[in-house]
Amino acid sequence: MAFESLTERLNRAMKTITGQGKLTESNMDEMLREVRMSLLEADVNYQVVKDFVANVKEKALGQKVLDALNPGQMVVKIVKEELQQLLGNEDAQIHFNDNGITNIMMAGLQGTGKTTAAAKIARYLKNKKNKKALLVACDVIRPAAIEQLQTLGESIQVPVFTLGAETSALDTAKAADQYAKENGFDTVIYDTAGRLHIDEELMNELSMMKDFLHPQEILLTVDAMTGQDIVTVAREFNEQLQITALIVTKLDGDARGGGLLSVRSITNVPVLFVSNGEKVDDLEEFHPDRMAERILGMGDILSLIEKAQENMDVELAASSMERMQSGQFDMNDLLSQFEQMNRLGSFKGILKMIPGMNKMAGMVDDDQMNAQIKRMRAIINSMTPKERARPDILKASRKNRIAKGAGVKVADVNKLLTSFDQMKMMSQMMSGGMPAMNPFGGGF
Ligand code: GDP
Repeated sequence: MAFESLTERLNRAMKTITGQGKLTESNMDEMLREVRMSLLEADVNYQVVKDFVANVKEKALGQKVLDALNPGQMVVKIVKEELQQLLGNEDAQIHFNDNGITNIMMAGLQGTGKTTAAAKIARYLKNKKNKKALLVACDVIRPAAIEQLQTLGESIQVPVFTLGAETSALDTAKAADQYAKENGFDTVIYDTAGRLHIDEELMNELSMMKDFLHPQEILLTVDAMTGQDIVTVAREFNEQLQITALIVTKLDGDARGGGLLSVRSITNVPVLFVSNGEKVDDLEEFHPDRMAERILGMGDILSLIEKAQENMDVELAASSMERMQSGQFDMNDLLSQFEQMNRLGSFKGILKMIPGMNKMAGMVDDDQMNAQIKRMRAIINSMTPKERARPDILKASRKNRIAKGAGVKVADVNKLLTSFDQMKMMSQMMSGGMPAMNPFGGGF
């Protein structure tokens, strides 16, 4: 997960002053040195780091801060504001065409996640913006790109227009434009071909499409894992195509995050979305203020709530909670909770968004957690409806059968039952309290 070590190091840097009553030039310098090192280590551009530190110093040494009741906290606030400034002070928005079809053209090097992002954006526009979206397969270079887009389109129920790999990207775009007009689509997303490197052929193809489509948006996908290369690629694409916004992909990977932190201030192109997984719902609107807080380990509860509202069945969650508090909670509820949690993304990701839980996120092994959940779901799935409703009837022979069916040991079944009992007891005790988000109390 990106920014993990940056968050930790920045927190350490902040600690050097937050505990101290008085802010002096010397303890400030010590903190700034740490901040500088943290950013450089996260692969943030050198000039960007230099300016960042100078700005923080200038503001922090201002009289108001020195005289403040808690100067340490004031400095943390300044660092947060500067981070936000770096990431772009305002949220980027998609510009819709009020007088006709909105054309969105994707661009990016091969493998950066362009095709996947095209589908993710189509899903976002359909679900969140109520748009009648059409995807167009203009990547006629990469083998299987068309089929990939068709599969993705099917999964999100957005139609995909294609004339096959034999027709040029421009001719496909022209036909798609006509098709969209005739069939009442209001937003059209054009997937385009990438290359391994920026070359003339690629730019010419994209320029021709741009000249024909006059797109409201040209969105460039850049891969967070490539670090500083993001800046180089974005700059070149921008010079030749005037891109409108960036989508930073693969933020779930082991990226240090420096590319994302540098690209806005160097290219002046805003980040519109970040992508943090391979699934079609792994796309987040980019909010610089929330990201700054996340980087500083302050969590991002707003995005978590939005994610929950978008992906979870809120009614189901509420009724399962009610059942839990009234003691009627059974294995069906537990199963549905696992499914709901799954829709919120990785455990690490969830914990990082909860203020104060950042440290804990570092200790979580997502693969291990997923394996545990998978095992527990398999166990519940091996139960009969009656057993799920009344797990208390599970005696040795039933447990044996379930363990066999789920491919686990009887001890695993017992562990799940213990966890289940503990959850039930806890929830009754704190009736009106927290939802059952931690089914691992039994050390499963
Ligand atoms: P394109 O060549 O730019 O169209 O790239 P694709 O959309 O085919 O993506 C290349 C690979 O990256 C695929 O295996 C995707 O599943 C994967 N991918 C795309 N976005 C993300 C992301 O945000 N996180 C991760 N982990 N993988 C991604």
